[in-house]
Amino acid sequence: MNCPVCGAPVKEGTAFCESCGANLGISKRAAAPAAIVIPKEYKPLGPWAYIGWSLVYSIPIVGFIFLIVNSFRKDNLNRRNYTRSYWCALLIVLILLALTFGIAAATGSMDELMQIFENSFEQAQSGLPY
Ligand SMILES: [Zn+2]
Repeated sequence: MNCPVCGAPVKEGTAFCESCGANLGISKRAAAPAAIVIPKEYKPLGPWAYIGWSLVYSIPIVGFIFLIVNSFRKDNLNRRNYTRSYWCALLIVLILLALTFGIAAATGSMDELMQIFENSFEQAQSGLPY
């Protein structure tokens, strides 16, 4: 075999040309990369963990306590971030509710709004089997 750069004959299996020093592209196999170890606090949450925590957070008082505690726990940052995003979603819902009632109060249509709520509650109740 000849060096592709200078054309000098080179021995099979050598890494560099002895004449010009060109890299002949024959490198020893790279050492296997070390296994990636994810620190415990970055461990991903499975889909069931997200569903489970969502259900826990929707429990009236207990859920609220878990929401506060999990927002500050540092043992799993994915859970903490999900909990904080849950706060953001709650905040958006509260703002939308406040806007709805604010606009209704400002435009003097609060009675109509309450009527809509009452009607939907009655509808929901009449749909129940008891
Ligand atoms: Zn060469």
